[in-house]
Amino acid sequence: MTPAAHLDLKPRRRPRGWWLAGLLVALALAALAAIYHRQLPDLTLPRAVQIARELLQVFQVDVGAVEGAACYWRATDELEWTSTAVVRVADTVGGPAAFVTTLGGLVRMARVPVPELRAFAPPVGQDVLGDIVLTDYNFDHGADYAIYLIVHEIGHVLDWRSHKHLSQTVSAETGASQCDLDNPSVACVFDTQRAVEPPPGNPAEPYAGVSTEEYWAEVFATTVYPEYYGQSTANNLVGPQTADVVKTTLRGLGAE
Ligand SMILES: [Zn+2]
Repeated sequence: MTPAAHLDLKPRRRPRGWWLAGLLVALALAALAAIYHRQLPDLTLPRAVQIARELLQVFQVDVGAVEGAACYWRATDELEWTSTAVVRVADTVGGPAAFVTTLGGLVRMARVPVPELRAFAPPVGQDVLGDIVLTDYNFDHGADYAIYLIVHEIGHVLDWRSHKHLSQTVSAETGASQCDLDNPSVACVFDTQRAVEPPPGNPAEPYAGVSTEEYWAEVFATTVYPEYYGQSTANNLVGPQTADVVKTTLRGLGAE
């Protein structure tokens, strides 16, 4: 607005009631603004409920209570990151319907208020709390860590439900597990140094080297969500041949 815009205004006499009405409107607006700001912390709750509902209806992922006394989710961000992890897995396996088929149905994620414990996915039969147990620790180290670890745990759920078909097949096909096909009774030798490509993560001490199960969870998680290890150029990402084996083996699982 420029001062010239006021030059044409002439003083006008207004009835006194007009001012009173103006004052009341201003007071009403101020009161509404105060109420609006006081309720701000609750405004994200509908979003939390919406995320939980979408995860259950679209992906058959149950995140438990997102309000009330039984809810241990501390912020809507925790649910946003969980949703991102699920969506990224779905994108990798071919969409929401393929996610449900590949996982073989309901995935229960239990949010527990435990500070110094990593997230974990107990084997089938020991899954009293849930298929995946998400701790405070999981969400205390930023979005990339939280999302990556949830994807990693979904990888374990897939593996348990395939009776370790995924970890055994993928580690054998990349060469990380060397098996004597003529002597099936002899245990396979697991050594990620023998794999066609280095495993993802810290080259000196890859977590993937712990076991075939962790190797699978790590190559799966880095295929789905490379951003986590990608934060440092010192880390290895997943090689193209290994990523191909991961995707081909997953497709085979969904087709069964
Ligand atoms: Zn693991």
